Amino acid sequence: MYDLLITNATLLTMAGDGAGYIEDGAVAVEGSKIVAVGPREEVEGNDRARQTIDAGGNLIMPGLVDVHMHSASVIARGLAQEVATWMGSAYGPLVRHIRDEDAPLYTMVALMEGIANGTTTFGDYDAPMNELLASHVALGNRAVVCQGTTEINWADREQWIEQGWRPGTAPPLNRAYGEAGLAAEIALYDRWHGYDNDRIRVIFAPVAADMTSEELLLEFQRVARARNSSIHLHVAQDPRENNAMVERSGLRAIPYLDSIGLLAPDTIAVHMCMTTDDEIELAASRNVRMACCTNSIGIIDGVVPPARRFRELGGVVGLGSDQAPGNNSHNIFAEMRATAMFAKIKADDPTVLPAWQVLRMATIDGARVLGVDDLTGSLEAGKEADLIMIDLQGPPMAPVIRHPARNLVANLVYAQTGSGVLMSMVAGKVIYEDRRFTNVDKTAVLHQLAAAAGEFEAAISADPVVADLPIAQLTRSGLI
Ligand SMILES: [Zn+2]
Repeated sequence: MYDLLITNATLLTMAGDGAGYIEDGAVAVEGSKIVAVGPREEVEGNDRARQTIDAGGNLIMPGLVDVHMHSASVIARGLAQEVATWMGSAYGPLVRHIRDEDAPLYTMVALMEGIANGTTTFGDYDAPMNELLASHVALGNRAVVCQGTTEINWADREQWIEQGWRPGTAPPLNRAYGEAGLAAEIALYDRWHGYDNDRIRVIFAPVAADMTSEELLLEFQRVARARNSSIHLHVAQDPRENNAMVERSGLRAIPYLDSIGLLAPDTIAVHMCMTTDDEIELAASRNVRMACCTNSIGIIDGVVPPARRFRELGGVVGLGSDQAPGNNSHNIFAEMRATAMFAKIKADDPTVLPAWQVLRMATIDGARVLGVDDLTGSLEAGKEADLIMIDLQGPPMAPVIRHPARNLVANLVYAQTGSGVLMSMVAGKVIYEDRRFTNVDKTAVLHQLAAAAGEFEAAISADPVVADLPIAQLTRSGLI
């Protein structure tokens, strides 16, 4: 007997090469796993069920995968856009005011936003991850986490200046600082990897080539490989990184990483937005996995990441929401629409990067990027029951046209905003339904957030760097 039968569903399984459409389907679950999926009569004919969910003809599909996000920075949502040097003059100064003790609350808010918009798996890249994981655990989502290690200790800034360092150039690296970061990531792995029947996995994260020495990058790779894990790093994320790498090694970021063997199948390369065609070809030929954060990079850099070309070259691409200060949301439906649309605008060609390919980026390919496609990303017997139900009865999904052309996938990518998510399940457990979180009191969390926002305002108000931000100037002028 099945534990659970979800029936009377329109299915997109994302199994096989396309979207895996099944018109009148069912999914059977035992424990945390899918045991049968297919046409209703086949699945229902096999066995009875202890519990049945009638999907009422609505869509059941895999939960979305957000491959790259910095969850705690949500407290600075919408404060870091429309600046020339985003990281140094907007994002960095703002997130410096996030206190470690407040960060789990912010992560909770970012994850709630993602879950309400259909995401079930998060590639969270933030600190202090040991504490942030309390939010992932509480909400019941799946996560592939890392903490991020650099050898740049900004606390030493005054000392660098005394030693002749000029702001805007590559800061000096501090090996001991980086080693401590690696040790913390190993401790994180030892404590959390495999938690709750593999609901939480831990991977390793040297932040970027320009922030770590060659020795530390290679040490990270050894540590990750010894655990059959992955390296998750930002690659060619801004001109500063390429300039710093040329200064240090004579090579831009991608050729440099290749020269030391870091361009490899166990590397997740985030952004790759400041790249030449040859560099993208090189990365694809090395079977690097790409985390594409279209809205973030569009807003903060005015650049379209090369997802279309990387995919055409055979690379696997997942979508990430990145960060809220300059995205300004954690919503993979928004990432799908932008990724499909910006590729067309960039190519001046409406036929490139069709919706079904982008839907795969948001599901099965995202799972491949994070190395969790054994668990999630498609509805298949043997995988964990990570799935969402989407309303097909009204706009933006209605009318559903099935013959001779199906509009389901196109409307998921170009019309759905996340408002149609009716239910969300991870490992066979409902974590979100009827706009409520099963395990967390949304109202209480939002009250805490409002109080924390007041304290954050007070902290950034005293910071002259923040007062210089264009958005602060516009605020003073009364224009916004
Ligand atoms: Zn990032």
